[in-house]
Amino acid sequence: MGYAEEEYLMLSEIPRYVFCPRQWALIHLEQQWQDNVLTIEGNALHNKAHDAEIKEKRRNKIIVRGMHVASSRLGVSGACDVVEFHADTAGVYIPSYHGRYRVVPIEYKRGRPQEGEEYVLQLTLQAICLEDMLATDIPFGYLYHGEIRRRVKVEFSYELRNRIPVLVQEMRQYIRSGHTPRVKRRKGCANCSLNNICVPKLNWLRSAKHYLERRLAEG
Ligand code: SF4
Repeated sequence: MGYAEEEYLMLSEIPRYVFCPRQWALIHLEQQWQDNVLTIEGNALHNKAHDAEIKEKRRNKIIVRGMHVASSRLGVSGACDVVEFHADTAGVYIPSYHGRYRVVPIEYKRGRPQEGEEYVLQLTLQAICLEDMLATDIPFGYLYHGEIRRRVKVEFSYELRNRIPVLVQEMRQYIRSGHTPRVKRRKGCANCSLNNICVPKLNWLRSAKHYLERRLAEG
């Protein structure tokens, strides 16, 4: 089934949804937004990486910044921070670059490597879009972490790839129903840009109060 233009999800929605489905829904279904230090800094680093679609050639490598990608199969589109094309006779033929290349996506992140899988899944989705567009296999990519100034390799396993359509379907279901998921407190709540709107503490206190009242009534 194809998707209409207005049904396309943005690539950048995936890490948000993986981090917290409620945060994603507040932003994308309810259009709530509050910048905090983390998102402002994150955007600054991204803007640097996304400086339009810039191509640079270095020896056997072509580096493309801000490359627009899409998967019509999944109905997702967006931009990759950096895509490297490494000259390789076993790679895919790219007519505009007059040769065969191995394709390697790289996503820039502000901090150091972290526990959550949101960025790994974002990069996996970028690889899937590139594979769909270029009809090639992309076995790995890199997450570049600003704080340690280093790339960390990410292998696109079956397990990671199989989670993408499931996540996309879940998001579409929330969009269809217009339902915002309930608060589920997590480590990242303290630094969440929507903390004041979401009020996790308040909701948690409300549910605790409700629980105590019910127990007393049952009493
Ligand atoms: S405060 Fe916590 S539960 Fe609420 S949107 Fe942010 S991360 Fe999600």
